[in-house]
Amino acid sequence: MSIEVRETAELGPDERAAFFDRDAGIESVTGDVREIVERVREEGDVAVREFSSEFDGVDVGNLEITDECERAYDDLDPELREAIDAAAANVKEFHEAQLPEDWRREFADGRELGRRFRPIDRVGVYVPGGSAAYPSSAIMGVVPAVVAGVDHVAVVTPPAEEISPATLAAIYAAGADVVYQVGGAQAVASLAYGTETIDRVEKIVGPGNKWVTAAKAVVRGDVEIDFLAGPSEVVVVADETADPELVAAELLAQAEHDPNTSVVAVTDDEATADAITTAVTELVRARERKDVIREALENDASGVLLARSMSEAILFTEEYAPEHLSIVADDDESILSRIDSAGSVFLGPNTPVAAGDYASGTNHVLPTNGGARVTGGLSVETFLRSTTVQRLSGDGLADVGETITTLADAEGLEAHAESVRVRLERIEDGSS
Ligand code: NAD
Repeated sequence: MSIEVRETAELGPDERAAFFDRDAGIESVTGDVREIVERVREEGDVAVREFSSEFDGVDVGNLEITDECERAYDDLDPELREAIDAAAANVKEFHEAQLPEDWRREFADGRELGRRFRPIDRVGVYVPGGSAAYPSSAIMGVVPAVVAGVDHVAVVTPPAEEISPATLAAIYAAGADVVYQVGGAQAVASLAYGTETIDRVEKIVGPGNKWVTAAKAVVRGDVEIDFLAGPSEVVVVADETADPELVAAELLAQAEHDPNTSVVAVTDDEATADAITTAVTELVRARERKDVIREALENDASGVLLARSMSEAILFTEEYAPEHLSIVADDDESILSRIDSAGSVFLGPNTPVAAGDYASGTNHVLPTNGGARVTGGLSVETFLRSTTVQRLSGDGLADVGETITTLADAEGLEAHAESVRVRLERIEDGSS
């Protein structure tokens, strides 16, 4: 397999659309996913078991596996358990730093306004587990919910002959309250509508493949979701100082997630572009998951691109709005200052995306398919709702009263205006 360098300036309309309107195969499965969701909604556990047998090849016994998670944690290889605990501690520390404080202050004499933050009561976290095991996603989904103070954190993860002990242990270490073995669209539907065994939640979060992501899009409206966190993506912006092997290593790392993953390197230096393609071709041979990587590299939204200038590379990246953005260039900070749309940014040669994927502390559940144009990744705020609170004194109401009544009258909402006037009269005659 070899990949060719393409010039950004020469991309035709279809090629540009493949990069900028990518959907990672989600649209093609949405019809099937609707049927799965509907069946689970109508038939509950029976449908869940049937789909688990069809898509995961497992005849599931008990759907609930909460106790198995604690056992897996206790029995886990100590080195792996320590790594899980260390990663969870870093993720917890970073997310605790995000906790907003309730606040109130006086904006004008007698007009006190503020915001209060409270956790959502019941959330569901999808922890993927199809072609790879994702203990890291358990940490990334559950820890911020726990930090936010969510009362009931339910986790779903695909069933298997033997579910990865590391995933089960990580779910326990992260602090989930209840855990079910169910994956794919049927898991999302179970959390959205509830079944005999699985209680419905108020918000569903977490990453997954195209079936999981399509299901989140289908149930959105009946239940809150975080955002669409589908097959992974990375854009590496490189200049002539970048080490081509390190750039290639980044591409391969994300490409091994899923055949629907998209990986891009964009550079303003021709020699670097050529060296990256050579390094990719060489390195892929040694990778264990080379078949998945090759499929991902052949995606229409993957490639090595040569831009005429760094400005053109930056414009490309901004329009791509990648889930992960790695900048390996001399003036990385100035490049970053010109890019607004990216889920998570990695600066400099010593900062692999894998740092954020696993253990530096930032969250790896991030928007894909251009979602970074409108949102960031999972955070403590994902699990909080804010409420505004206010108290006006008599002077405060008198101050703003006429503005309110004038606007209410203009809207023809006389009772609104009257609710103010009656108070103003009382304030004036001293009865309140
Ligand atoms: P997964 O848990 O997402 O999917 C497995 C499930 O897919 C199975 O349980 C099955 O029910 C369902 N499925 C498989 N084939 C099906 C079919 N033909 N029809 C219907 N349903 C089917 O696990 P995975 O497949 O390993 O994928 C994990 C995904 O998560 C990858 O795409 C990875 O890139 C992504 N990811 C994204 C982020 C992010 O933040 N965006 C983070 C981590 C992982």
